[in-house]
Amino acid sequence: MKVVIVGCTHAGTIAATRILNAHPDAEVVIYERNDNISFLSCGISVYLSGEVGDPDAMFYSSPEQLEKMGATVKVKHNVLSVDPKTKMLEIENQETGKLTADYYDKLIITTGSWPIIPPVSGLENKNLYLCKTYYHAKKLFKIANESKKIVIVGGGYIGVELVEAYLRQGRDVTMIDGGNHMLRKYFDGQYSDRISRVFKDKGAHLELGQHVTGFKDNEKGGVQVITDAGKIYDADTAILCVGFRPNSDLVKGKIDLHPDGTIKTNEYMQTSDPDIYAAGDVTSVHFNPTGTERYIPLATNAVRQGTIAGVNVFGNTMKYMGTQSTTGLHLFGNTMVSSGLTLRAAKQFGIDADSVTIEDNYRPEFMPTTTPVFMTLVWEKGTRRILGAQFMSKHDVSQSANLVSVCIQNRNSIDFLAYVDTLFQPNFDRPFNHVNLLGQAAVAKEDQAK
Ligand SMILES: Cc1cc2nc3c(=O)[nH]c(=O)nc-3n(C[C@H](O)[C@H](O)[C@H](O)COP(=O)(O)OP(=O)(O)OC[C@H]3O[C@@H](n4cnc5c(N)ncnc54)[C@H](O)[C@@H]3O)c2cc1C
Repeated sequence: MKVVIVGCTHAGTIAATRILNAHPDAEVVIYERNDNISFLSCGISVYLSGEVGDPDAMFYSSPEQLEKMGATVKVKHNVLSVDPKTKMLEIENQETGKLTADYYDKLIITTGSWPIIPPVSGLENKNLYLCKTYYHAKKLFKIANESKKIVIVGGGYIGVELVEAYLRQGRDVTMIDGGNHMLRKYFDGQYSDRISRVFKDKGAHLELGQHVTGFKDNEKGGVQVITDAGKIYDADTAILCVGFRPNSDLVKGKIDLHPDGTIKTNEYMQTSDPDIYAAGDVTSVHFNPTGTERYIPLATNAVRQGTIAGVNVFGNTMKYMGTQSTTGLHLFGNTMVSSGLTLRAAKQFGIDADSVTIEDNYRPEFMPTTTPVFMTLVWEKGTRRILGAQFMSKHDVSQSANLVSVCIQNRNSIDFLAYVDTLFQPNFDRPFNHVNLLGQAAVAKEDQAK
């Protein structure tokens, strides 16, 4: 059987690896328009901050590696069109401009996403940059050396990671975001306020509640960032980090898409055409807390879905179990992690939800050191089903979000989390782990409200 994979960063690389490991005799052809595969964009901020010196170490596979496993890997090849009726593809060699055709038995679309470019003026400004690829990372590193003042547009997780990275490099950093809180997709206001204070102490200028309307050259050869609040921010460099959109134009009109442009798949990652599968940032994911399809472009989803597509092109046997959108950040020594819905998001989805927020030291005070964990649990009133959680601490509490993620996936209640078995040893935690205490606080609040 011949499987063609279009796009080879995470979903594509993992799908190919899975197929080549399980079916060494399968014919696998990969088309990738970049000249590299498997770049971990999540390493960009640690590279820009100086914490990690070599962006070349952020690849976990290579065309040579996949070829050694038996694939034909065509980098610098852009797939221009797909014809599901004839199962033919048209491809452009980006070095020679030559057009070729190819045939597939099964096709896996892993064309991912591209940063959203908002419809504002002055986008051609030479000091305006994006942040996604290996080459973006290299360029951003270089220009940081030449820039004193940097404006980051967008306060999502990529924007805030860049703010931290450039503050660590001693730059004058301004972040502009349309909302009143940064990171508002993942955290309630109290968390944003806490990390905002940390950022301000480190010298960041946080300009919230205003939208960028355009960019202009300034007289010093830099860029002016103009907002709808009538403000103008002068900088040497501006970086757009306002989200991602799916790269689905290739299959528009050929297979079913959601209104937001993401490819519709079933739980086997199969599209409306049974011979075409899709995975990663180009698709929507099943978001378990609400039971709806949502656009959540994360590497975590891409690698799971890529694996599943790689299995199912040989017969639908493995189901995608959906996601809680569990994510984490490490900002100036603070671990910030979340899973599922914030209270605000739950209400926006029309769920009758409640939340509780507590703070407690992660281990007993008699230990040489301890430190507080600030944490929130969100649940559905009445059914007591857990919908989401957030944690922030100087201690590494990343695994707490993973534990709650499993609870959300399994539709566990606050009562379950309150008393589920967790280890106790004073080096690590209290007789009741902080996640149990959070569950118990939720139970107390829910019972009081009865
Ligand atoms: C700065 C940054 C930090 C991030 N941090 C995290 C993190 O900490 N945790 C996390 O889970 N996620 C993180 N993400 C998100 C994560 O990188 C994406 O979810 C992931 O890259 C998606 O992988 P993908 O393979 O689906 O798509 P992409 O990475 O978008 O790759 C798609 C590939 O398809 C190729 N392609 C597209 N169209 C064609 C075509 N027509 N022909 C040939 N090739 C084509 C593209 O060149 C590209 O290489 C981060 C993203 C960024 C930008």
